[in-house]
Amino acid sequence: MMYNNLDDLPQEYEEELSQLETQITELFALLEKSEIQITKLQDENFQLKAQIQKLQQQSKPVQYKSPQVDTIKVPKDIIATVSPSDTYPRQNKRKCPNCGATGFSIKEVDDKTCIITYVPRRIYKKKKVCTKCRFEF
Ligand SMILES: [Zn+2]
Repeated sequence: MMYNNLDDLPQEYEEELSQLETQITELFALLEKSEIQITKLQDENFQLKAQIQKLQQQSKPVQYKSPQVDTIKVPKDIIATVSPSDTYPRQNKRKCPNCGATGFSIKEVDDKTCIITYVPRRIYKKKKVCTKCRFEF
């Protein structure tokens, strides 16, 4: 009786074991499937990240263009700041600081050694020349 009892138990265990083994193989198959899915998703993620990097690199030159536009605008600002100073001496009385000559004796000419801007056209710094003593100021 004891022997039979002992002999019966392993048989029950064997059935359970075989059931568990099939369950394990099923679970392993599931695991494999999910692992394949994970690797697929990881590949997809990697590709998407690469795409994001590409897009970020592409968007960088666009951002780089805006300062270039600003540098084009800068000479216009210079012109804007120049024109008031250009008209300013005309409003003031022209007077030679060297000989004291005034009015038509003082001529306003371009200082060709000093170019303020090339855009949109060449603009020279203005200088005044006294026609009486040839003093430049
Ligand atoms: Zn003078």
